[in-house]
Amino acid sequence: MNINQAGGPEETKRGGGAIMLGVERLSCRLCGDADLVSVADLGASPPCESFLAAAELDAPELTYPLHLRLCANCFLVQLPPLLDPDETFTEYAYFSSFSNSWLKHAGAFVTTSVDRLGLGDSSFVVEVASNDGYLLRNVVGRGLRCLGIEPSVNVGQAARDAGVPTLTAFLDAETGAAVRREHGPADLVVANNVYAHIPDILGFTRGLRELVADDGWLSIEVQHLLTMIELTQYDTIYHEHFQYYTVETAQRALKTAGLAVVDVEKLPTHGGSIRLWARPEAVAGEPSERMRAVLAEEKAAGLHELSGYEDFAARVDRVRLDLLDFLVQTKCRGERVVGYGAPGKGNTLLNHCGIRPDLLPYTVDRNPYKHGRYTPGTRIPIVAPERIAEDRPDYVLVLPWNLRTELSAQLAYIADWGGRLVFPIPRLEIVSPDREARQA
Ligand SMILES: [Zn+2]
Repeated sequence: MNINQAGGPEETKRGGGAIMLGVERLSCRLCGDADLVSVADLGASPPCESFLAAAELDAPELTYPLHLRLCANCFLVQLPPLLDPDETFTEYAYFSSFSNSWLKHAGAFVTTSVDRLGLGDSSFVVEVASNDGYLLRNVVGRGLRCLGIEPSVNVGQAARDAGVPTLTAFLDAETGAAVRREHGPADLVVANNVYAHIPDILGFTRGLRELVADDGWLSIEVQHLLTMIELTQYDTIYHEHFQYYTVETAQRALKTAGLAVVDVEKLPTHGGSIRLWARPEAVAGEPSERMRAVLAEEKAAGLHELSGYEDFAARVDRVRLDLLDFLVQTKCRGERVVGYGAPGKGNTLLNHCGIRPDLLPYTVDRNPYKHGRYTPGTRIPIVAPERIAEDRPDYVLVLPWNLRTELSAQLAYIADWGGRLVFPIPRLEIVSPDREARQA
């Protein structure tokens, strides 16, 4: 399976801020096995956050294959490392503190963890991919010593400005060892929404082990593959997201550096996530009852063998056919459909389905940075949300379906003219926002 058509393992600089890494042949990044089985082939699309300015519309746009595969040996579900995270993260535009619900989530986590682990004045907390200090500011507030490790220069500077000590670096074994030498081992290491975003899973995991004290704790939040497969959330597949975990594969990954998962919490974030609690093997002890329950659920869904992945591609196809059928039928009837939201996941869906402005004339977003820009690949204009009330469309297609309750309430006003909401995932649903709001 040679996907580097240009040949040669050397790195080739391309446009669009991304680097195509030379890939001689695909093999599992966790166990090295070459037996990778197709789970879903979504065609090719640009990186999902590369929104276009008007001036870029006449320029070519680089696309990358988006083909999800499963290792038949260790069952890690993965994408080839076509994007270099160095490029993606150096000037990262996402500031966690812009999201109120995320801030609340981080604050609650710190309070619970300090109690659960009995952290006190002498404790040391490290967060990897600490963003703008959205989580560690709570640790600083409690008077505990902490350090953030954040690869993005501008985001890390925002954290330092907010009083959160932050090192600008990618975590690997060397960085982990250097931090341990300088600051001592950490009683708690936090790694939220990063374990899927690093192609060097082995080096990153060794880095985590270097950071954590021999009797310390590691907390990792990551999207749960079980929910993605069960609810056909295939739009959460994008190039920046290199692997997708079950508790079982996360256990395998962490074990490569002598870390054992001892507990798992299920979280509603990102449509379905897990919080893994891990410790160095020597102090780990027995896994919790709720961890055994989640493993049993995964096993029952067939995710610890090949069978659980076999019908995913067919279900992905059904989502696409139903959505396209709806858009074509409404267009033929002369009804109007517009989009709500321009999240990264929306771009996977729009590109995979081939939805362009002929079927979706625009989408609205609350983020002013995106106004006047266009969705990558499909080039759908992004405008301010007020446009919906002016145009009174028949249907609003909701792209961030994970915020369903919140958005159904926010968009309840479209019922004034009989407008309806359309949710594409897990399967096409057309609902009156009135009824939705009452249910919420
Ligand atoms: Zn493998």
